[in-house]
Formats: sequence, C-alpha cells, structure tokens
Amino acid sequence: MERGKAASPNEFEAIETHTSLVRWSKAYARSAIDNYDFDVSLDAVEWEVSTRAKRRAAAVKSPSFSDAEVGTPRTWNGDGPPSCTMSLSWRAAQSFEYEEWAATLRHELVHVEQFQTFGSTNHGTAFKERADQVDAPVRVRRFSDPKYVLTCTDCGENVAHRYRDCKLVRHADAYRSGCCEAPLRCLEP
Ligand SMILES: [Zn+2]
Ligand SMILES: [Zn+2]
Repeated sequence: MERGKAASPNEFEAIETHTSLVRWSKAYARSAIDNYDFDVSLDAVEWEVSTRAKRRAAAVKSPSFSDAEVGTPRTWNGDGPPSCTMSLSWRAAQSFEYEEWAATLRHELVHVEQFQTFGSTNHGTAFKERADQVDAPVRVRRFSDPKYVLTCTDCGENVAHRYRDCKLVRHADAYRSGCCEAPLRCLEP
C-alpha cells in the first residue's frame, strides 16, 4: 500500500507483518480524520505493535499532565502537542474483522484528539458524545481465543490456529500436517 492510498478491507485481510499492520492502520487513520473530521495531528503520533497485549485491542500511551482536564483546552508551546503512541495489539488485529478494527482505531483516535486538545483523556461524557459522532464504541471488545483450530487427522495434534476465515480454514484437507503428513481438519471450538 502506498502512502496516501485508502486502507481497503482486502488489504486489511492480507496483513501479515507488524509493518503492514502499522502502515494500514495509519492510512486508515488518515482517511478517518478526513471523513469524520477529527481534530488530530498524526505528525504527533507514534505507532507500535504489541505482541504481549492480551486483552486490550489497542491503546494510546500519552504523557500525563497533573493539571490537565478533559474539557479545558490546553495551549501547547512551540511545536504543538507532545507525541503520544498508538499501540496496536497484534492478536486483536488478527482476530478482528475489518469493520471492528476500523471502529477500534476510531475509538483510539478520540483518545488522541482529547489528548492533543486537552492534554488528558478518559472515557467520560465528552468521550461518549464524540465516540457516538464518529461511530466508535465507547468500550472496545476484548478479544480472546482463536476462532479456528486445525488438527492433524492422523494423531489429533493441534497444528495451527487462525483468528479469521482463510484458505487454510476453508480447505484444511488440502494441507498436510508436519507430524504425520496427514490432511488437516478444521475445528471451530
Ligand atoms: Zn478507550
Ligand atoms: Zn499428526
């Protein structure tokens, strides 16, 4: 995906690396800022992928200012707001469908917008109103176990898991296990 190109659902399905997850999510954020009129400067946002996050799909890490409050606009000296970090959970990105991941990013963009405007962010009334305007959930769904488990039809060993529908899931019997070279079977636990 080139810079400036729209972040399409198909490209989301094809994400296989941390770099492409960040690239896609950034491109999506850029288009969401235009479409939903977010007051966000992406220049002041860093991106990272977390492989350890077990529950939170994404999070915004920002410096905290004890005197900052949502609702009280903050004046930034010099170059504008300090940077904050959009931290994306790799496992969530693998487990969410496009729509839900996009809505998750909009939720996090509300946090970024609050932080850049007020120096603080929370899930209070102002957040709820804004989330509603940008069609984002107030709470992002927790994500959990893989949707599909692939087992060896010979020994029954679990050989792989997938979070989304894919070729391997649809045509499990066309693949061979490493243990027994037997066809795979796909289970939906
Ligand atoms: Zn939140
Ligand atoms: Zn086997």
